Amino acid sequence: MSFDYDLFVIGGGSGGVRAARVAAAEGARVALAEEDRYGGTCVIRGCVPKKLMVFASEYPDAMEDARAYGWTVHSGGFSWQDFSTKLNAELDRLEGVYRKLLSGNGVTMYDARAVLKDAHTVSLSTGESFTAKHILVATGGRPVRPDLPGAEHGLVSDDIFHLDELPKSILIIGGGYIACEFACILNGLGVQVTQYYRGAQILRGFDDEARGLVAEEMRQSGIDLHVGSNILEMASTEGGYRIKATNGTEKVFEQVFFATGRKPNTDGMGLQEIGVELGRNGEIVVDEYSQTTVPSVYAIGDVTDRVALTPVAIREGMAFVETVFKGNPTPVDHELIPTAIFTQPEIGTVGMTEEEASAKEPVEIYCTSFKPMQQAFAGRQNRVMMKLVVSKASRRVLGCHIVAPGAGEMIQLAGVAVKMGATKEDFDRTCAVHPTMSEEIVTMKTPIRTA
Ligand code: NDP
Repeated sequence: MSFDYDLFVIGGGSGGVRAARVAAAEGARVALAEEDRYGGTCVIRGCVPKKLMVFASEYPDAMEDARAYGWTVHSGGFSWQDFSTKLNAELDRLEGVYRKLLSGNGVTMYDARAVLKDAHTVSLSTGESFTAKHILVATGGRPVRPDLPGAEHGLVSDDIFHLDELPKSILIIGGGYIACEFACILNGLGVQVTQYYRGAQILRGFDDEARGLVAEEMRQSGIDLHVGSNILEMASTEGGYRIKATNGTEKVFEQVFFATGRKPNTDGMGLQEIGVELGRNGEIVVDEYSQTTVPSVYAIGDVTDRVALTPVAIREGMAFVETVFKGNPTPVDHELIPTAIFTQPEIGTVGMTEEEASAKEPVEIYCTSFKPMQQAFAGRQNRVMMKLVVSKASRRVLGCHIVAPGAGEMIQLAGVAVKMGATKEDFDRTCAVHPTMSEEIVTMKTPIRTA
């Protein structure tokens, strides 16, 4: 049977674009459909604009610290309009880069919504239909609001980048990556931030000591963080929304921001109709090669709800091309993924938390917390933390957790050592780089406890 294309990719985010262009570079006839903007969540409404907002939000502290270092600083206010104009121009540029990458590799692009008609056919919102030997679904996910009265008035992360102006006050609901990152960003930009998290401590799943320190630092920087608290209902009122909370309070906030998780984009795509199995959250169920229950249909990235991170989607895309177009079956390696949370201070982490590791085997914990030189000189009380979780039996470093400015940069490098299977003694015999914060990671001599 002959097909219009060897590969039809649905979704022009990080994973889909990578898979499309690498398959095309291998000589495959590839098409890609995207209903919104090329670049997807990461480039258009996630990692990239978020990180630029992180940079913007760090200047007030930097200016204050500059004074402590002897500079005369005349600080004006922050112009959200100036920043967002520049931000939007940068996103337009990046979207252009993504389109060029695709066209440069000979991928045919359709600016349209695609749905699956059968195991080898997609139909587009333009009315066209195409057949393909393989179909790759890389449609990502979207933020969800909880089901409660008035929730439709609340913002989600997609909306933050399109605000006409910053609110004076905001209530953030949630305690995950997005809630905590935006609490810090908006606080830095001068918004009065309150955060409600329903659990006992923010950033569930991360190392307890790291979570504790970040929560403490967030409170110290002025975020009004309440744990064990959730929103019950919201109603419009003068100046914003009146919020009834589970802690018995009723307060008015100018805006409410739901950072309460994300859902895979699988609705109305014809997936179940053609036999593709979906999981409980609507995610596409795939095997280790990203193949669905329909053999010609594969799925990668957030739509599979495995590890919702850009570099993981990209690796899944590369492994898919290796498997399907290069005759080299390559399972996706989801072990020991380093990651960073861009709170202030950041968390950089790789491997097991103390809690996970100690549940599996006896471990030694090496941990130090101190005031870093740069901030301490400026009179700040902020602390950073370096922690290693070490197997007693094998001496391998099972987990590395860093809470510090720049922890995202540090953990990328520590991640190489941990992925290679470095032991505590390998860390010990590595010479310190002085004076840095990260030198502490190779100078911790005695475990603070065993677990
Ligand atoms: P998360 O799943 O990380 O967090 C969702 C938060 O919302 C949790 O604290 C959860 O609480 C809470 N929540 C869920 N439902 C409700 C509800 N009905 N009422 C109140 N609270 C609720 O999702 P995010 O949206 O923050 O991020 C999604 C994913 O995107 C992340 O897991 C990550 O993979 C990725 N991401 C990565 C970033 C990075 O690499 N720096 C940055 C941003 C996102 P509970 O803990 O109790 O379930």
